[in-house]
Amino acid sequence: MKVALLGAGGKVGSVLGPALAAAGHRVTGLGRGGELFLEGHDAAVDFTTPDAVDGNIRAALEQGVPCVVGTTGWDAGPAGALAAERGLPLFVAPNFAIGAVLMMRLAAEAGRFLPRAEIVELHGEAKKDAPSGTARATADLLPGDPPIHSVRLPGLVAHQEILLGGEGQLLTIRHDAYSCEAYVPGVLLALERLPTLPPGLTLGLATLLEA
Ligand code: NAP
Repeated sequence: MKVALLGAGGKVGSVLGPALAAAGHRVTGLGRGGELFLEGHDAAVDFTTPDAVDGNIRAALEQGVPCVVGTTGWDAGPAGALAAERGLPLFVAPNFAIGAVLMMRLAAEAGRFLPRAEIVELHGEAKKDAPSGTARATADLLPGDPPIHSVRLPGLVAHQEILLGGEGQLLTIRHDAYSCEAYVPGVLLALERLPTLPPGLTLGLATLLEA
């Protein structure tokens, strides 16, 4: 596929660009600034910032280009409506790491039996949004309204624990992403499935793993 990679110079983008090319995609790496000319691309992939992503995705959809988005901390609803209007797929996942998807699935199962849970998400200090998209998506799968604790420190990449407490016991479910390579297989899967997705918003890697 001919892929426009928005945020190509970022921590995720700089790993993703070479990995997509190695998998056989033709990648146009794009950064900040200037008008986006995306016509002729089969897909746009966005790993940018919460304030840039909506404009990027609108520009892509208006030029007829389907999108895959990893950027977190934004409301994808309005862009999803535009995608539906244009008859184009928009795939958004707060976490492209397979281990993180499994962590959420296991937490949902555990929450049926241990309903008192709290979430601790830990990321590098440069992460702009808090709580993380993954923590919010995990909270939505658990009973009640579990508190989320956000830690931002140097040295961290992307980590999350779900603590489920019962009388005399504690269950901890934890996922650690140590490098951005963790997101590559999920993005490749999203690109492979993109042409088969319905118009409008499809949310979460789990929807692709179950299909
Ligand atoms: P980052 O290192 O800050 O990279 C963001 C990149 O986007 C930078 O190169 C930045 O350029 C560029 N950028 C800013 N505005 C832009 C625009 N208007 N158009 C094109 N590029 C623009 O951040 P990151 O760690 O790579 O993470 C990027 C996003 O992905 C964040 O929202 C993060 O939370 C999310 N994320 C998601 C997943 C997932 O699995 N879904 C995994 C990891 C991260 P400058 O350097 O010039 O500012």
